Amino acid sequence: MRVLILSDVHANIEALDAVLEDAPREEFERLLVLGDLVGYGASPNEAVDRVYTLKPDILIRGNHDKVASGVEEPLHFNEVAAAAARWTLETLTDVNRTRVAELPMGPASFSDEVEVCHGTPYDEDVYVFNQDDALRALAAASSRICFFGHTHLPVSFSQTADPGSLRVVVPELGAADPTVIKLDPDRQYLINPGSVGQPRDGDPRAAYGIYDPSEELVELHRVPYRVDLAQDKIEAAGLPNSLSRRLGIGR
Ligand code: ZN
Repeated sequence: MRVLILSDVHANIEALDAVLEDAPREEFERLLVLGDLVGYGASPNEAVDRVYTLKPDILIRGNHDKVASGVEEPLHFNEVAAAAARWTLETLTDVNRTRVAELPMGPASFSDEVEVCHGTPYDEDVYVFNQDDALRALAAASSRICFFGHTHLPVSFSQTADPGSLRVVVPELGAADPTVIKLDPDRQYLINPGSVGQPRDGDPRAAYGIYDPSEELVELHRVPYRVDLAQDKIEAAGLPNSLSRRLGIGR
């Protein structure tokens, strides 16, 4: 079985479609989507429609989904994120606003071995950036493998039952080949596939993950897309310029 993992699409249909061309839905038995379908990007309706067409096995909400669908006020958002959320709330069709507002909160269980969350298993809004964050999240996870998003940074944290065994794997910047993580049965994993629609590791290419339980491996992939088209749409929509600029540098 092969499982496609998408996170943080952020209303970037050009990036999403490039991922789906690289990793066609029909080649995967399962699809997991880790939240933040919308926010920042200029194609929220296209992104929500596309994801629904793909019929994900698990689809959970992210912090931007809550704010951009009116479920939550933008209390912890900076000015740019709040402006994009307001624009998204006005732009979503009634059907799509309802879809986004009704997305369930993570974590969600995929199998005996695997769960998914947006930020961490204990709080969907908390970021896992460093080793301390990862240790807290690993302690809270109820499965051996937890896929998460929210930071837009591809990474694998893993540990055995021994304290001090934490291992961090970050894909090499700009690598041509996918980063392959061979899963060790004695390790517990916390893996972020990176962001489809707004990468922040300095590589502007769209990011996604593939999990193969029978081969016991996870692959972290990158694929180029028409960044310029996504940028043009952001500018035409009157969204803050910084949102267009950051797509160009992957930050
Ligand atoms: Zn996000």
